[in-house]
This record gives sequence, C-alpha cells and structure tokens, in this order.
Amino acid sequence: MRFVDEFRDAQLGRVVAGEILAALEPGRHYKVMEVCGGHTHSIYKYGIDDLLPANVELVHGPGCPVCVIPMGRVDDGIAVARNEGVIFTCFGDMLRVPGSEYTLLEAKAQGADVRMVYSPLDALRIARENPDREVVFFAIGFETTAPSTALTLKRAKAEGMTNFTCICNHVTIVPPLRALLESPDLRLDGFIGPGHVCTVVGARPFEFIPSDYGRPVVISGFEPLDILQSILMILRQLAEGRAEVENQYKRVVPHEGNLRALEVMSEVFELRPHFEWRGLGFISQSALRLSAAYRDFDAEERFAVPGVRVADPKACQCGEVLKGVIKPWECKVFGTACTPEHAIGTCMVSPEGACAAYYNYGRYARTKEVV
Ligand code: SF4
Repeated sequence: MRFVDEFRDAQLGRVVAGEILAALEPGRHYKVMEVCGGHTHSIYKYGIDDLLPANVELVHGPGCPVCVIPMGRVDDGIAVARNEGVIFTCFGDMLRVPGSEYTLLEAKAQGADVRMVYSPLDALRIARENPDREVVFFAIGFETTAPSTALTLKRAKAEGMTNFTCICNHVTIVPPLRALLESPDLRLDGFIGPGHVCTVVGARPFEFIPSDYGRPVVISGFEPLDILQSILMILRQLAEGRAEVENQYKRVVPHEGNLRALEVMSEVFELRPHFEWRGLGFISQSALRLSAAYRDFDAEERFAVPGVRVADPKACQCGEVLKGVIKPWECKVFGTACTPEHAIGTCMVSPEGACAAYYNYGRYARTKEVV
C-alpha cells in the first residue's frame, strides 16, 4: 500500500538497526523516552524493541490521554451522567476507566444514559436530535484532539445550542515533560517527540528540552521505520555532542504547527491553574478549561460535580509506568488481577496505554545482549 509499505520495509529496518548499533558508545546505557502512547504501541506491535540492543532502553512516557485521567474526574463524569435527563457522551475507551467505585459503563448498566461517540460532532448531533435533553461531552486528549472539541463548541455557539455542554479534560504535553525532567527518579538521554501533538503545536514548544536540559528531541512518525530512524537521529545527536529538536515527521508536522487549530484553541480554551494527572499529581497550567466566552458550554458550571481527589488503588502502579520508572510487567498485578478485560489501572484500558501494549503483544520480560 502506497505511503504505508515504504515505512514497513523489514530489510530497510535491519539496515537502520545496524546504523543504530554503529552509533553507540560501547558500554553506555541509553534511556530514550517515547512520549506518545501511539509510539509505544507501534514499538511493540512491530517488534522494534527486538531490533535494539539491551543498552538502548525505551522508556514509556505520559502521552496517553486516557491513562492520565485521575479517578476523581471519572467520578465527576458519573455524577453528571446520573442527572435526570442527561445524555452523557464520551469516547469508547473512556467507558471502562475505573472511577473510585464504578466505570461509566457500569453507571450505564445502572441506568445512566451514557453513549459512546467517535467525535465531539457526534455528541453535538445527539444534542440537536434531543432538544429536550441535556447532552454532555466528556472531552479528553492532548493538543491533538483539543481542536476538534474547540471547533464543535464554536459550532454549538454559532447554532445557539443551549442543551450542549462539555466536561473539559484536555491536557497539554509540555508541563508533564518538564516535571519528568525535573524528577530525580529518572535519567533520560533523549525524547522521541509526539508526532500527533506536533501536527497541532509544531516543534517550537519542545525547544526547552535541549536548551534547558541539554537533551535531544526528535519528532517522530508512527510507522516502524519512522521510529527506528528517530532513535538513530537521537543517538547520532548524542554521539556528536548535540542537543536539538529535529523533525523526522516533516511529511506531516510543520515547524510552526497548525496555526488555524492553535487560533481556535486559544479562542475556546484557557489554561487551568492546575490539574491532577493520574499518578503524577497536580501539575500547574497543564490542562485546559473553557474560556469566559464559552462558559455557558461548561458542564462543570451547569452541573454539580464532586471534584474530589481520589487516591489510586494500592495495587495500581500506573503512576510509575507513566513516569517510565517501572516497566508494565514489573507492576505486581500486571496480567493477573489487571488485564484489559478487568483493568485496575488506566494504562491497561486505553489502546494507547503501555500496559495494554505489553499485554497485547506479549512483551512480558526482556533479556538481551548489551553492546
Ligand atoms: S498493570 Fe494495571 S495496575 Fe499495574 S500499572 Fe498497569 S494498568 Fe496500572
């Protein structure tokens, strides 16, 4: 298939793997974080990890939008969904994320009108079709999906909709990366930059990583050769003593990002002073809420929400997985009490979660040669 097969050529993959070996400093251990959950899945789906020597360690970052939603926000959603006359809409993977007592799917089984949608525009259509009901959209995602929520809210405002609101859980990628770089738990050598987010924000927001922390960043596509090439570009920067933001995904990511999308986002959203991330705690200015001009569409203003902070279950180590401190299989409940069918933590629920990637592609442990 054109524009796909070229990026999955196994022979070329082996050539790049050879170049990666040649770029290594013997005996040095490299830790490279792939920020985005989409990369994590490609890495394990295509066996990229198997092409790397053991001293090139891939560490999984916090870039899975479902994984970072804390239990308290799920509880807030369920509280709103249980209001008389509410139709509560969300993406499918959000349905099985555990709250403190229930998931949204269980709330639906108990009588709440919870519906899965593929886009915020589906939620808006449901609102148009049900003028006597309140329709709420549970918005999640990084800068990748925030523009679609923003455009939907603009359309709702233009149409004068009064029965459509949104619980905004959109998060931004730079603050958690800065928090990780400040963390003494983790020593990272470089970053595989989140290609999807960068289609919207561009490369510029990541310049603080080389300038403030001296680490290279390579913005990467999601096909196997994209990722291998990005790892090679990071290793070459390290070998040459450089630290820069490079863009491997130029076919999709413009350096300046998508200016129209950024403009719409800045009209509809503003930064929250702080937001709780699952396992990472509160991070300042790391999430979006609706701007004053769109306050009428804010479900948190229209409905009572508990807004309570709920501690993760004791057995859950999603926080350590999201920070890259442990591998998924090092969590005590991985694959036993916690599976995709009966998840304890979010990283096993989301198709972008690191635990789901390891579980689905059978990566339970790793013993390889160090070069
Ligand atoms: S195995 Fe389950 S509980 Fe453990 S880190 Fe993964 S998702 Fe969280």
